[in-house]
Amino acid sequence: MYNQKMYELGDKPSIIRELFEYGKAKKALIGEDSVFDFSIGNPSNPSPKVVNDTLINLLNSVDSVKLHGYTSAVGDYDVRWEIARYLNKTYGCKVSGDLIYLTVGAAAAITICLHALLNEGDEVIILAPFFPEYKVFVENALGVVRIVNCRCDNFEIDFDALTKAINAKTKAIIIDSPNNPTGVVYSKECISKLGMVLKDKEKVFNHPIYLLSDEPYRELIYDDMMYPFVTNYYDDSIVCYSFSKSLSLAGERIGYIVVGSNAFCHQNLYKAICGAGRALGYVCAPSLFQYMIPSCLGTFASIDVYKANRDLLYQGLQAIGYEIIYPKGAFYMFVKALEKDAIAFSNKAKQYELLLVPSDSFGYQGYVRISYCVSKDMIIRSMDAFKKLYDEYRGSNNE
Ligand code: PLP
Repeated sequence: MYNQKMYELGDKPSIIRELFEYGKAKKALIGEDSVFDFSIGNPSNPSPKVVNDTLINLLNSVDSVKLHGYTSAVGDYDVRWEIARYLNKTYGCKVSGDLIYLTVGAAAAITICLHALLNEGDEVIILAPFFPEYKVFVENALGVVRIVNCRCDNFEIDFDALTKAINAKTKAIIIDSPNNPTGVVYSKECISKLGMVLKDKEKVFNHPIYLLSDEPYRELIYDDMMYPFVTNYYDDSIVCYSFSKSLSLAGERIGYIVVGSNAFCHQNLYKAICGAGRALGYVCAPSLFQYMIPSCLGTFASIDVYKANRDLLYQGLQAIGYEIIYPKGAFYMFVKALEKDAIAFSNKAKQYELLLVPSDSFGYQGYVRISYCVSKDMIIRSMDAFKKLYDEYRGSNNE
């Protein structure tokens, strides 16, 4: 009749989507301002002016048959090389335009890479808490997910646990920095150590272990830090980038894959990526948004508002008494639930019209994720609800 697994995926939306839909219905019922929706990571900053200016210019000046026609499946040649030049200049890497593949965002980039890499039964390591779709994407590519928990004190990579988890079936590890849902940003030292661990394990198991670096939040870093470019630290790296958050273009679906120039069999790997894109029916990334890229490289939607929100929320919640992982990047805050069961805590929060995503959906227990790409005004108004929620638990025996 139809595929049962696909039916189940479609029938059971993610908790994040469920909360988001619940919020929309509740707002219609009690008013927009009465619901504090921290559920979804939809950029709340406008795209920088150069985006619309470039699009208007393209629409006015480029032949519309070319502008709206198919590009080559891997993406326009000049656009790919402009991206390569930008990355090489910015990060001192040696990326080739011939190993770049334009995609409809990071989600497509990851699915394409997984289909390109995995044979049935290959394992992919994901670090909990993790972006929930990773599990869906790996399993759909017939891979097996192996979950490794991050360190529980700071949500950095737990290298002991990771080292133990890598085995003969490990084909890849997915990392996500700045991280959704914790806001942790991996340092140069961390990526360098990760590279060394993977290199050692490649020698032990005598096959490549690919590092898939999912980077939709690459430029959303608030403190004095830069996320290193992984190909500089580990040869078998693949970068999955997206303009969804950096240019506030989440609905337009544009991003790219970079295969490291020194990755094992990089040319054949790139061909496998082309094959996976083809098999998945992607055809090509949206041409108008491909042609927009060269004029917008190095320009980003302002992160000042997110930083101000981060500070406001962090200070406000800390003052109330909440335990929070200090987020250095992305626009998420991971807050300890006030009872062991984060789903029950999230349900309790709903009674105060606070929509917080329970960490169970990220493969981790006991926390909620707050998405703070929202209005400053909503954060200020929500503080009273956070206080009431806290007061309801304080002194209770739920812990
Ligand atoms: N990876 C992570 C960690 C995300 O948070 C998201 C979106 O929120 C994606 C990938 C998908 O991004 P895109 O819109 O580029 O497909």
